[in-house]
Amino acid sequence: MKEALYPGRYWHFLDDGRIQCDLCPRNCRLHVDQRGACFVRQRVGDQMILTAYGRSSGFCIDPIEKKPLNHFYPGTSVLSFGTAGCNLACKFCQNWDISKSREMETLADAAKPEAIGEAAAAYGCKSVAFTYNDPVIFAEYAMDMADACHERGIMTVAVTAGYMGAEARRDFYVKMDAANVDLKAFTDEFYFMLTGARLQPVLETLKYLKHETDVWLEITTLLIPGRNDSNDEIRAEAQWIAKELGSDVPLHFTAFHPDYKMTDVPPTPSSTLARARDRACGRTAIRLYR
Ligand code: SF4
Repeated sequence: MKEALYPGRYWHFLDDGRIQCDLCPRNCRLHVDQRGACFVRQRVGDQMILTAYGRSSGFCIDPIEKKPLNHFYPGTSVLSFGTAGCNLACKFCQNWDISKSREMETLADAAKPEAIGEAAAAYGCKSVAFTYNDPVIFAEYAMDMADACHERGIMTVAVTAGYMGAEARRDFYVKMDAANVDLKAFTDEFYFMLTGARLQPVLETLKYLKHETDVWLEITTLLIPGRNDSNDEIRAEAQWIAKELGSDVPLHFTAFHPDYKMTDVPPTPSSTLARARDRACGRTAIRLYR
């Protein structure tokens, strides 16, 4: 199958014969036939293959506010699109049937970039969102879809954890019109213990988006009881956003439900969301959007 051998970019050879993926800060080092931690990038011979190219795990038409983006063409529809796999390993993943899939059957639907743009236009969608799983891992495919969308006047949205290498980030966000970045917590310990990633590269992506691109940026934090919902952490996050990004960057708080490897933690009560909103707004200039 031609699409299954689509060559991936952002890698280089190491002296020991392995190839290192530079697409995200995990920097997987691969022998022949090994797959990266995201599963959809595989070394075949002496190159990296994006095995998910041209294949989708599903589509849906949503209101743009569901991404969530409250200030990017509000009231319009978005064609949501995803593949499979993820470059993070969140124990609390709320979408793990797709992000942790190791079955290529998940990618059952053929979806050429042009077909995505045409479908969005046919259904009256203002934009296409790369969501469900992180578009970082299928960046080349997302960029080709973005070109196809822009040719048809359709905007593009990345829903992402923002865990991406600097070179790929530059190429990727030239093609995106808006992003909602998951800032999963505001401690490196949380990132390391519960996501397999680190905090600092995500902060770098946020600063890059705000200060070096025209991409419309909103941020989401999933609040998990006892893990990242303390007043001090919420306040520190909000203050960092206000200081480093500006008070005009919307911050969404969303509620956790027990799932995947974190079924021993209760759902987030609505009172926690209200408290977080008050903490974020009370000590900083962050605006209150509802
Ligand atoms: S994109 Fe995938 S293969 Fe590349 S470094 Fe990240 S997890 Fe590893």
